[in-house]
Amino acid sequence: MIVEEPRQLRIGLVAHDNKKRDLVEWARYNVDILSRHELWATGTTGSLIERELDLPVAKLQSGPLGGDQQLGALIAEGKIDFLVFFWDPLEPLPHDPDVKALLRLAVVWNIPIACNRASADFMVSSPLMESGYERTQPDYGEYLGRRGGGLSA
Ligand code: PGA
Repeated sequence: MIVEEPRQLRIGLVAHDNKKRDLVEWARYNVDILSRHELWATGTTGSLIERELDLPVAKLQSGPLGGDQQLGALIAEGKIDFLVFFWDPLEPLPHDPDVKALLRLAVVWNIPIACNRASADFMVSSPLMESGYERTQPDYGEYLGRRGGGLSA
């Protein structure tokens, strides 16, 4: 009998500085689940998770230096399935446009996003985590086929 391993999800992890403690605590609480998946993170967040939890993490550039955009690019390429992004609602940040862009791309590509611990707890404890769930891929064919601004073909 062949027992199929549940498909690993590629999980993106990002936490702003004031939220890093929250993310580490959340990750520690959920370490068994996280250890069964592939983790991608912005630089500092990734180093912290690796160090505190001894989990392997693929680390991108630090968020303000381009890491958020790298994660967004991975989402656009279909290489991230799930995003945990603890952004800071109380501090203005220099890379706010990148934060917004990352959140936007997660919505564009129908990626589940958790922006606080309660949402992240609900999401990782879902049976869909281990069920080989295939999210609906948005069809942007019509959008891509549109004619721009009255220009004739
Ligand atoms: P960091 O980036 O993990 O490198 O701190 C997070 C962010 O601010 O986007």
